[in-house]
Amino acid sequence: MQAGNRDIPSLDRRFLWHPFTALDLWLDEGTPMTVIAGGEGCVLEDSEGNRFLDGNSSIWTNLHGHRHPKISEAIAAQLGKIAHSSFLGLSNELAPLLAERLAVSMADLTGGAPDAWRVFLSDDGSTAIEAAIKIVVQFFQQTGQQERAVFVSLGGGYHGDTVGAMSVGHSPVFHGTYKDLLFQSREIPPPGCYRCPHNRAVPEKGDARDYRRCQWECVADFEKTVVPLGEKMAAWVIEPRVQGAAGMIMHPAGYLEKTCALAQSLGAKVILDEVMTGFFRTGRRFAFAHENVKPDLVALAKGLTGGYLPLAATVIDESMAAEFRSIERTFYHGHSYTGNQLGCAAALASLDLLDEPEFPALLQVKAARLAEIGAGFWSHPNVGDVRREGMILAIELVEDFATRKAFAPKRRIGAAVCEAAKRFGLLTRPVGDVLLLMPPYCAADEQLEEMGNALYLALCTVCPAA
Ligand SMILES: *Cc1c(COP(=O)(O)O)cnc(C)c1O
Repeated sequence: MQAGNRDIPSLDRRFLWHPFTALDLWLDEGTPMTVIAGGEGCVLEDSEGNRFLDGNSSIWTNLHGHRHPKISEAIAAQLGKIAHSSFLGLSNELAPLLAERLAVSMADLTGGAPDAWRVFLSDDGSTAIEAAIKIVVQFFQQTGQQERAVFVSLGGGYHGDTVGAMSVGHSPVFHGTYKDLLFQSREIPPPGCYRCPHNRAVPEKGDARDYRRCQWECVADFEKTVVPLGEKMAAWVIEPRVQGAAGMIMHPAGYLEKTCALAQSLGAKVILDEVMTGFFRTGRRFAFAHENVKPDLVALAKGLTGGYLPLAATVIDESMAAEFRSIERTFYHGHSYTGNQLGCAAALASLDLLDEPEFPALLQVKAARLAEIGAGFWSHPNVGDVRREGMILAIELVEDFATRKAFAPKRRIGAAVCEAAKRFGLLTRPVGDVLLLMPPYCAADEQLEEMGNALYLALCTVCPAA
């Protein structure tokens, strides 16, 4: 495994520290290291010439596949002009076009005019959330509502790794160590029907959202926390419809609408984290479009550039932004690479592809295929829940189907299955024992099938079916 004459794995082990990675496991010379050298469409190729299907869109970022000619050309063309210039006191030729596109999308989905929205650009999902939180805090200070300081968010929630984003997160693994550093936020039990304590249904071979037996106690849980907060509540922060890193928890249809309406009726703002769900991942342009919701702020990142470059956006209701006009009310917040032209060029090219008239119908066909692939997993006894939303397929593994008993976490069953999947030509990462297929939208039928087959074979390797 050589780039030129250098041994890349040993250089990596010597000098690098990988995200969310146990160093002991990574540094173990016995663990083979996959070094990605190239890619095209849904396929990634390592430096030894092995080819893999990119089953999680390179951690939920890539929409149209790798080396899409339209996006590559847009970036190259922009490189021919300029790569980056400051956005402080200067504009550039692309960021305003991108902001307009995002505002028009928001107007289309919520009714009203595009200039009812304003866009703050940053670098990644964490920074998009961080900006949203600070805007809400400053907004309430500037409108005489200092007491509105309590953020409310979902258990298991993951909104990024900066201190503010961690503060609205509720994942012990990611956030526990830093809890003394974080501001306090209120946690609402996540409305994941499969493991919901209010769901009285016995397990069936289907999506637990469809056979659940309950009385919307999840919404009552929310109400019980937020109504007493009243005028102390600043914002409801939620990943609409699907909580990604929490375990691809899919919420029952209507939860989003009911909770957002209640939060807004109390005068709180709604911050939607569409970092993972945005740009058609759930089948609609934004996940909130499945329900009747008008957010106050929306955080966008991962798929914004089609998965080519780091760029993020916080889209803000203009009536909030209007409170930041005077010099004394400036939002003193920003990043060196705000408005980066290469990122904006990639984003505009990606949005063009999403705007092709035939795109939504084509995506629906692929999403239906993905659902069929998911249904195939029911023949395995350790599959407890199969849930799908748009181009997200999640398969939750259990030790015992009848009791929903999970495997002991230290067995790392999900990780073992994904490690085995590599040998069948598939790259994907689980969340705990939830297996994920989140293919790029360009995946051909045969590629979707290959992904499903590889994952199923890998599952059978780790958990023999009979
Ligand atoms: C990935 C993710 C983030 C953080 O984004 P980064 O670009 O990794 O900082 C925030 N929210 C959600 C829902 C995410 O999936």
